[in-house]
Amino acid sequence: MSAAFVASRLAVSRALAASREAAPLRVLRTASGRVEEVSVEAYVAAVLPGEIGRRAPAPALEAQAVAARSYALARRTRHTEAGADLCDAVHCQVFRGLPAATPETRAAAEATAGTVLVQRGRIIAAPFHAVCGGRTARPRDVWDDEENPDLTPVEDDACSGAPGFAWSFSLPRQELPRLAEALGIPEARFLEIYGRDDTGRVSMVRLAAPGGASRVVRGFDFRKAASEIWGWASVRSTAFEMAESRTEYFLTGRGTGHGAGMCQAGAIARARRGETRDAILGLYYGGATFSTVDSPS
Ligand SMILES: [Zn+2]
Ligand SMILES: [Zn+2]
Repeated sequence: MSAAFVASRLAVSRALAASREAAPLRVLRTASGRVEEVSVEAYVAAVLPGEIGRRAPAPALEAQAVAARSYALARRTRHTEAGADLCDAVHCQVFRGLPAATPETRAAAEATAGTVLVQRGRIIAAPFHAVCGGRTARPRDVWDDEENPDLTPVEDDACSGAPGFAWSFSLPRQELPRLAEALGIPEARFLEIYGRDDTGRVSMVRLAAPGGASRVVRGFDFRKAASEIWGWASVRSTAFEMAESRTEYFLTGRGTGHGAGMCQAGAIARARRGETRDAILGLYYGGATFSTVDSPS
């Protein structure tokens, strides 16, 4: 074995060890521009109310704690330009300050202290969403991002009683130009579903103009643009069918959110019927395993 090979192996194991030590998180407070330094566990306890609600039963809160901790540690390079790790907004995870933590969310952080989800030796940015609508999505089908974890989609009926499991939205034809403009083809007047991923979600949407010009956009970008114009309760997910009439496009869909990783409504329902935190995590994060970081509270 060459000396160079040994040295490079040592460098790798040192890098891994460093990634296992969870230094405090520097959170960019977007309103003030200040950077607040908080311990990982205090951060996790404080983000849970904003991400899943403090009334969720303990196994669901604990599953969310593991997901939120993993996400934060995997994405802690997102705001280095501001001298921070993460921001306090939806872009990263909603952090309204340490007083947002409750006895229940502190207990969930403590019960799972240091536990993270890993894949191929790296902590994963564990995705989660409100309601999957019957089947979760594959992260790489949602985001165009090489660091997506490889998680196995699952059938999930546990969220069927949740608001947002089924939805509909009417998009009047006369309002289509607003969406077309946001998606970079202002002259478009027609809309069609152009592709679906293997879980049935709309992966591509095509916008076409009377003169023949057209543009294909990702389903994720279509939903994002629609949400910015008509609110989050318009196109709630990319799991939809679309019918058209002379006056409107009528969407009927399932689920709320991107659909990848943990379905929060499903996690809550499963916890209520007695499933454990590890069973919930094992279901929604199939393909990942658990590891522990050293994260003093
Ligand atoms: Zn951010
Ligand atoms: Zn679900």
